[in-house]
Amino acid sequence: MTSEKLPFLPFALPDIGEEEIAEVVDTLRSGWVTTGPKTKRFEEDFTAFLGDPSLQSLAVNSATAGLHLALEALGIGPGDEVITTTHTFTATAEVVRYLGADVVLVDIDPATLCIDPQAVEAAITPRTKAIMPVHYAGLAADMPALLAIAKKHGLKVVEDAAHALPTTCGGKLVGTLDSDVTVFSFYANKTITTGEGGMVVTRHAELASRMKVMRLHGMSRDAFDRFTAKVPSWYYEIVAPGFKYNLTDIAAALGLQQLKRARAFQQKRETLAQQFNAALADLPLITPPLPAQGDLHAWHLYVVRLADGVALHRDRFIEALYEAGIGCSVHYIPLHLQPYWRDRYKLKPTDFPHSQKAFERMVSLPLYTRMTEADADRVVQAVRRALG
Ligand SMILES: *Cc1c(COP(=O)(O)O)cnc(C)c1O
Repeated sequence: MTSEKLPFLPFALPDIGEEEIAEVVDTLRSGWVTTGPKTKRFEEDFTAFLGDPSLQSLAVNSATAGLHLALEALGIGPGDEVITTTHTFTATAEVVRYLGADVVLVDIDPATLCIDPQAVEAAITPRTKAIMPVHYAGLAADMPALLAIAKKHGLKVVEDAAHALPTTCGGKLVGTLDSDVTVFSFYANKTITTGEGGMVVTRHAELASRMKVMRLHGMSRDAFDRFTAKVPSWYYEIVAPGFKYNLTDIAAALGLQQLKRARAFQQKRETLAQQFNAALADLPLITPPLPAQGDLHAWHLYVVRLADGVALHRDRFIEALYEAGIGCSVHYIPLHLQPYWRDRYKLKPTDFPHSQKAFERMVSLPLYTRMTEADADRVVQAVRRALG
C-alpha cells in the first residue's frame, strides 16, 4: 500500500456525532434558535465541567468576542498597555487595539513555547494594566510565575485559553485559576466546537455583570428592580453602546453534546500524541514539551521543530508532507512578522529570538480525535521519509 493511493489526510476535522446532530435538530424544531434555554444550560454545564460553583460562565459567539468583553470589563482603554506573547493568533492582540490601548509583545520560553514570565516582567511600564497569557498548543503557561508578577505589580490577568480545554496547571483546570477572566474558543478546529463560539469564565461578579450587559447591546434589565420587584418582559434600559456577542441556541446545542465528550476527546488526543512522541523520538526533531507530572495537556496542537543542524528547510518539510497526502500547518506566523503589528510597533525578528527561531523550524502535524492509529502511523512514515 502506498500513501499515494490513500485519501488526503486533512490537518484538522471536527468530531460531530449523532448526539450533536439530534440536539441541533431538536433546537431547530423547538422554535428557539437564538440565545435561549440551551445557551443557559451550556453555561451551567460548563461551570459544572470546571467543577467550581463560584465561577460564572458566559457563552459568546467567539473567543475573540470574549477576550474583547474581558478587557472592556476590566476598564482597559487608551493610554493603557497590555502584555502578551508574539507567538499567538492575532485575535489575542487585536482586542487590545479595539479598545484603543496598546499591545506590548514579548518573547516565548523556547522550552514551552508559552509566554516567558521574565520577558513579561521586563516589559512592565507605569502604563501596563494587564497580562494575557496563551496556553500554547494546550500546555499551561507558567501561571504561578505570571500570577505572582501580576500580583506584585497590580496587574490584571486574562487567560487566552483557546487551546486549553481541558488543561490543568498545578492540578487545577485552566478556568479555575486565580486570574481575572479566562476565555475558551469553540472554533471549528478547537478541542470542542460549536462551529463558532466561545466561553468567558470569571469568579468576579462585577466583571460578569458588565460582560453580560456588553455581550448584548449594553442592555440591562437590572435597573427596573429598584422600582418594582416585577420586571415586565418588554422592559430594558440601554446603559452602554454594547456589542452583539451572544451565542445562538443552535451553536449551544452542539456545545452541550461536545462538552460531554471533552474528557474522552482529550484522552484520544493524548493517546495520539504519545504515539507520535514514541515514533518520532529517534528523529532530529524537537517533539512538544510535556506537562508537569500529573498535569493535563489538551493537545490542541502537536508541534514539532526541526532540530539544530537539520538542513531541510521547514517550507520544504511541509511540501514533502503535502506530497505524501498529509495536511499540516504552522502555529503561528508570529505577530512581530505581521505587517500591522510589525509596522505599528517597529518590531524586528531580533527582538523575539526564541519565537523567531521556533517559527522558522516548526510544523504542526495533524492531531484530532477522528484520526486512527493507522492515520497517525501514516503521518509518522511521511515525516520519516521527508527527513530521510
Ligand atoms: C482560535 C484562537 C482564538 C480565537 O478564537 P475564536 O473563537 O475563533 O475567536 C484566540 N486565540 C488563540 C490562541 C486561538 O487559537
